[in-house]
Amino acid sequence: SNRIMLGPLVAAIDQGTSSTRFLVFNAKTAELLSHHQVEIKQSFPKEGWVEEDPKEILQSVYECMDRTCEKLTQLNIDISNIKAIGVTNQRETTLVWDKETGEPLYNAIVWLDLRTQSTVERLINKTPGRNKNHLKHKTGLPISTYFSAVKLRWLMDNVEKVHEAVLSHRAMFGTVDSWLIWCLTGGKKGGVHCTDVTNASRTMLFNIHTMDWDPELCKYFDIPMEILPKVRSSSEIYGLMKSGPLTGVPISGCLGDQSAALVGQMCFKDGQAKNTYGTGCFLLKNVGTKPVVSDHGLLTTVAYKLGRDKPACYALEGSVAIAGAVVRWLKDNLGIIQTSTELEELAADVGTSYGCYFVPAFSGLYAPYWEPSARGIICGLTQFTNRSHLAFAALEAVCFQTREILDAMNQDSGIHLSQLQVDGGMTSNRLLMQLQADILCIPVVKPSMPETTALGAAMAAGAAEGVSVWSLNPEDLTEVTSEKFEPQINPEESELRYARWKKAVQRAMNWET
Ligand code: ADP
Repeated sequence: SNRIMLGPLVAAIDQGTSSTRFLVFNAKTAELLSHHQVEIKQSFPKEGWVEEDPKEILQSVYECMDRTCEKLTQLNIDISNIKAIGVTNQRETTLVWDKETGEPLYNAIVWLDLRTQSTVERLINKTPGRNKNHLKHKTGLPISTYFSAVKLRWLMDNVEKVHEAVLSHRAMFGTVDSWLIWCLTGGKKGGVHCTDVTNASRTMLFNIHTMDWDPELCKYFDIPMEILPKVRSSSEIYGLMKSGPLTGVPISGCLGDQSAALVGQMCFKDGQAKNTYGTGCFLLKNVGTKPVVSDHGLLTTVAYKLGRDKPACYALEGSVAIAGAVVRWLKDNLGIIQTSTELEELAADVGTSYGCYFVPAFSGLYAPYWEPSARGIICGLTQFTNRSHLAFAALEAVCFQTREILDAMNQDSGIHLSQLQVDGGMTSNRLLMQLQADILCIPVVKPSMPETTALGAAMAAGAAEGVSVWSLNPEDLTEVTSEKFEPQINPEESELRYARWKKAVQRAMNWET
């Protein structure tokens, strides 16, 4: 047969909250050659709880790999050209498994989960001055249900099997990256238990200055350090694939999804930023090699460390819990749309929310408020309001939340972004992109290849020492083509709508208290 000669290829596993993808890129041109995607089930066993099945997550990775390799073979592309695999993942989601049996000891507790709300309140009440930023000087993070340490604490306190496994030194903790890398490199037969600095920086056990697990933080949450994975850089060979069509290929890149998107959007310079619209919405701005602390409710997080001997870069991050998840809610819970893509048509029918404001604070509010007791609210309803207005209000909510983050970033740095680079599943919604430009009053720029998160992980994997098939030298990086959405409404109208939104947010606050 006519095998196509392409040179080295690099793959990425993108394990997100809503789905898993496997993608293969050409390392010279960054072209996406083939991919496969599988949806992930989420369970909501109690109000506020969100879980996923670790075995289903792993199975979805194998399935996506197998199917992508089949597709490549059908395209006459030799899969032996795949030189490295990168992993990128939903961050903070917490797992514990038994290293002897290889079995998960509980479902994965997803980042959005609120079961630790009372623990978090107790911890904050114990701090001097009831200060949720008590650990921020080390972690860059407020004490919140969002991060892994409190979820892990809950598992150790409430799941007998976890408690026993910890006592008998059989427990392994990890975020999704650690679980996948451990399983893919052999699991109970010699799997590598590691994580990268970006994922570690979201646990609240990691010191972003020393770049290692922090004994004091571990003591604070009463977590034994022996269950933690080894912390590595985001770009180095962690281990080799132990089974499947890519057996023997090194896994050599690892980045939390938002860091991967920053890399995939080539935001390597101080001041460059991107916003990713997936289940949640995450705006990250590269602040260079020194951590910057926010005074306006943003997180300080490790952006990437692309090689063992390379410096770490930090980012300021604004996290929004509910973005695409509001679309899924309109679909699954209200049934006003059958598919996510229908939302755009529905909202476009009216082109306005007709004064309806929808604050989807389903999991409290994240940045810049960090208020776990906020709850969702729809207000401004009249006899005239219909499902199209509600759809429009849902899209606007995503844009307003982004505006709040951007305002916080501008206040922190005093420098205003002149345009916003965007990516993620929701950016296929063109109405959303236009609305975003209107509400921010700056252009929104979307790359034509939307899989920037996976691209970032592939770049890190391909650039690793010992692989070196992908250059991260800015001069060698491929120009990306993109589409630009310019603001179209006048700024006064934009301000008026934003002011109304702020009023609605105030009504959503402190609902549970
Ligand atoms: P994640 O990485 O969090 O798994 P993705 O980047 O894959 O998320 O984006 C999926 C999210 O985007 C889902 O929550 C879905 O509801 C939403 N979404 C997908 N397509 C559209 C669309 N055309 N309009 C609005 N929302 C969409």
